[in-house]
Amino acid sequence: MSNSQNNKIYPKKWLGVFCGAYEGKDDTVHDLVEELGKALARNQIGLVYGGGGIGVMGLIADAVLENNGWVMGVVPKNLLETEMAHASLDELVIVETMHERKRTMYERADIFCALPGGLGTLEEIFEATTWTKLKLHEKYKEVILLDNNGFWGEFIDLLDQITASGFIKPKDRAIISRTDSVSTIISKFENC
Ligand code: AMP
Repeated sequence: MSNSQNNKIYPKKWLGVFCGAYEGKDDTVHDLVEELGKALARNQIGLVYGGGGIGVMGLIADAVLENNGWVMGVVPKNLLETEMAHASLDELVIVETMHERKRTMYERADIFCALPGGLGTLEEIFEATTWTKLKLHEKYKEVILLDNNGFWGEFIDLLDQITASGFIKPKDRAIISRTDSVSTIISKFENC
């Protein structure tokens, strides 16, 4: 399948990205998102995300599209306006519920990545991770936190503390990793 307007090649692999509907206070996230968008496009890895045109969500979609990469957005119909669904995506899937949104994203993604975000991003990280733990995805899907200036540091510390307390098994803790390197994320696609 190709997009007839610009001869894009339909991706074989997909990164599911969870990220904020706000941009946050650290402007350097723009550079990180730009780098990720370029790398996805260059490696013909599709972006599947929540479909919004605002916040970090809008930034990552723009970064992939500007580099001629492929973007699929999945948005519940009640959020079409609030999250200003991105107008120029290759695919925009409109669903009925939040659960359907997440299931659609999970089915498409081979690997998940979280950029800085808030409550919704946290919820998605935990759910995608527990689905891997419970083998609810059709294959093992890891969750990588892409760090910007230590954004995920205390979150990782909390996970380690809970693991040390015996409530998370080390093999389940290993589903989530943290990196500040876009190339680490791209290299994971060699084995998925
Ligand atoms: P946030 O990280 O709070 O800025 O939200 C990022 C994205 O997560 C937004 O598109 C929200 O609509 C979405 N979101 C928030 N809560 C949920 C949820 N319970 N399930 C699925 N997506 C959610």
